[in-house]
Amino acid sequence: MDYLEGLNPPQREAVEHAEGPLMIIAGAGSGKTRVLTYRIAYLIKTKNVDPFQILALTFTNKAASEMRHRIERLIGLEARNTWMGTFHSIFAKILRVESEKLGFPSNFTIYDTDDSKSLIKSIVKAKNLDEKVYKPNTVLSRISGAKNRLISWENYINDPYIKADDEAAMKPRMGEIYRAYQKRLFKSSAMDFDDLLFNTNVLFRDHPDVLNKYQQRFRYVLVDEFQDTNLSQYLITKKLAAVHQNICVVGDDAQSIYAFRGADIQNILNFEKDYPDLYVVKLEQNYRSTKNIVEAANSIIEKNKAQLKKNVWTQNDNGDLIELIKSASDNEEGRMVASTIFEEKNNKKLQNSDFAILYRTNSQSRALEEALRKMNISYKIVGGLSFYQRKEIKDLMAYFRYVVNQDDEEAFKRIINYPKRGIGLSSVEKMMVAAYEHDIPLWQVVTNSSSFLAGRAANSVSDFSTMIKSFRMEVERKDAYEAASTIAKQSGLLRELYEDKTIEGLNRYENVQELLNAIKEYVDNPDNEDKNLGAFLQEIALLTDNDRDKDEMDAVTLMTIHSSKGLEFRQVFVVGMEEDLFPSQMMMQSREDLEEERRLFYVASTRAMEKLYFSYAITRYRFGRLLDCEKSRFLDEVDPNCIRVTKRRGQQPIGDHFGQSNGREGKSGFVGLKTPSVRKNTTAKVYTPSPDFKPSNTNNLAAGMKVEHPKFGYGKVLKVEIEGLNKKATIGFDNFGEKTLLLSFAKLRIV
Ligand code: ATP
Ligand code: MG
Repeated sequence: MDYLEGLNPPQREAVEHAEGPLMIIAGAGSGKTRVLTYRIAYLIKTKNVDPFQILALTFTNKAASEMRHRIERLIGLEARNTWMGTFHSIFAKILRVESEKLGFPSNFTIYDTDDSKSLIKSIVKAKNLDEKVYKPNTVLSRISGAKNRLISWENYINDPYIKADDEAAMKPRMGEIYRAYQKRLFKSSAMDFDDLLFNTNVLFRDHPDVLNKYQQRFRYVLVDEFQDTNLSQYLITKKLAAVHQNICVVGDDAQSIYAFRGADIQNILNFEKDYPDLYVVKLEQNYRSTKNIVEAANSIIEKNKAQLKKNVWTQNDNGDLIELIKSASDNEEGRMVASTIFEEKNNKKLQNSDFAILYRTNSQSRALEEALRKMNISYKIVGGLSFYQRKEIKDLMAYFRYVVNQDDEEAFKRIINYPKRGIGLSSVEKMMVAAYEHDIPLWQVVTNSSSFLAGRAANSVSDFSTMIKSFRMEVERKDAYEAASTIAKQSGLLRELYEDKTIEGLNRYENVQELLNAIKEYVDNPDNEDKNLGAFLQEIALLTDNDRDKDEMDAVTLMTIHSSKGLEFRQVFVVGMEEDLFPSQMMMQSREDLEEERRLFYVASTRAMEKLYFSYAITRYRFGRLLDCEKSRFLDEVDPNCIRVTKRRGQQPIGDHFGQSNGREGKSGFVGLKTPSVRKNTTAKVYTPSPDFKPSNTNNLAAGMKVEHPKFGYGKVLKVEIEGLNKKATIGFDNFGEKTLLLSFAKLRIV
């Protein structure tokens, strides 16, 4: 098998491991994901395993599709038929088929976080509880934590320890909210994200025949990023693999960063107990990064007490030292990063997509975005307020959802009076209360509005229900694109946006068009068998933010460290390396928390292939105030042999630097405002001026002229400006990049 030649001996051993449980525990960049990919190819090609019998679970949809492509490259189209996806997407698919066993219709809606929070808000309100105590965020994460540990609302309410815990936290009604939340979800024929896994567990527990069917189907189960699975996910995999025992998991305990979502490193440790005949393979050679980066990363993770011993090494070159960038403010940090990217791109002929900027929290992106935009560098933000979270998109999607599932209360609330049709909040509440009190589906109230409402409102609701019925027919008869276009138009939503001629309005209108384009693309894609609007909705509900980026665009990637898992980039900036920001203030309750933050730092650092930068600012706007910041303790933990401090252009105001440069550089007759490209350790060579070099009079120097400089060689004048008494020129040198020089000092020969 020649394709197995791209593997080292332990990798190959893992790929060729025969039947039985297998665990690959290895450091970052050592080829874990590669091994999974090759193993699937090997099973299909060499072991003649039917691709339909292979289930591969990944952390993001993007990782799944990348894996699919790589396998296709190895063995061709046959790879298509493997079951590959995130836990959520695979088990949502299975739940669609089996939902009736759990009392759900197959067209159940998947609530996103916003829907869940809005539902919690209305429950807290209905119960007359204090919204400041029962904040939707807090309540949701408490419920989510319970579900991830498979604690149902019944168990929750009856557990004395949980009860004591909630009472101590002054939130004694939590269990009651959990119960109401589940009841309302059920009534809306909806599941939230955690329910997808929770209900799969219930399904497998209560329906052995169903479990058996899937156990037979998936003869081989493979899991990437196993260190980040929670109990709910772990039990699903364990149950599925119970018959064949062909379970292969890969992970790195040093990269476990989802404890806050219930992920448990214990799963790795328990694995050996659960499978006594487990075969363990360790991979220690890193193929991704330079020696400097690997050694720095090792020095970081070494500080953690709780970890499995690993010795990650690489045969790659030493590479550049890690650069430490210090800025005066968050805005300056943005400028420094942007200008460094600009320089590196030009000097090394790199693409925008070779760079990533990683931060601890989404809100840090603003200053970076501004700087990138000013320098005309395209970028994309992964995560944050993504396309599908914009209001106009959620509104139209709510129409789609409601047409597909009339029980969906959150969708109903969004669209019943949007665009305005004279149905006030009190009428909406009356209808919801009526449904609740009579214990009938909301849709029944909507279709019999005159029994519950009076006058104009009753008529409007009746028109609304007629409209929804007609949309329903569209959805049944036509494909997703045709149905969606009709709904967008006839609901009045498109017109509403079209009539708003402000820039934002125009933008919103375009976004809606973009959504319709996406649906068209979905319909035209031969991979999608079911072209129905319901199928499209399901697909969208399961996209994680990571999957929504436009891969085809050449752009710098901006994202949180959490979303960077498993990815690699040639150059990586880890920004905002300040105390209270990273490590995060919110995560400093205990030693475990600090260790998790450190693992996060390890994940960030190991994304870089060739060059890594750490950056911090000494002041930063946070919580609406300018705060003084202290350099992160993590920076002191990095092996000092791997790192050096950089000073770059734009770092200091001209005046400051002028003072500093009066010394040595001044004597040589040259005052550079900044000398970023003559850093030690770079490829820049010293220039020897031509023998007849004589400085010219630069009084009439102008943009576009070619000049020679005794140190920087030839270049082109980009602009000449006057600042105070000084005249300065920005010159793009052929080999030394862009520099700004004061003309009263600089020796230039006009050529
Ligand atoms: P992470 O922990 O970040 O998820 P990983 O262990 O999954 O990393 P991979 O992404 O599989 O690592 O591999 C890292 C890089 O090294 C990839 O570019 C991969 O193609 C390359 N690589 C891995 N093994 C080999 C090998 N034997 N020969 C050449 N390149 C390899
Ligand atoms: Mg990986």
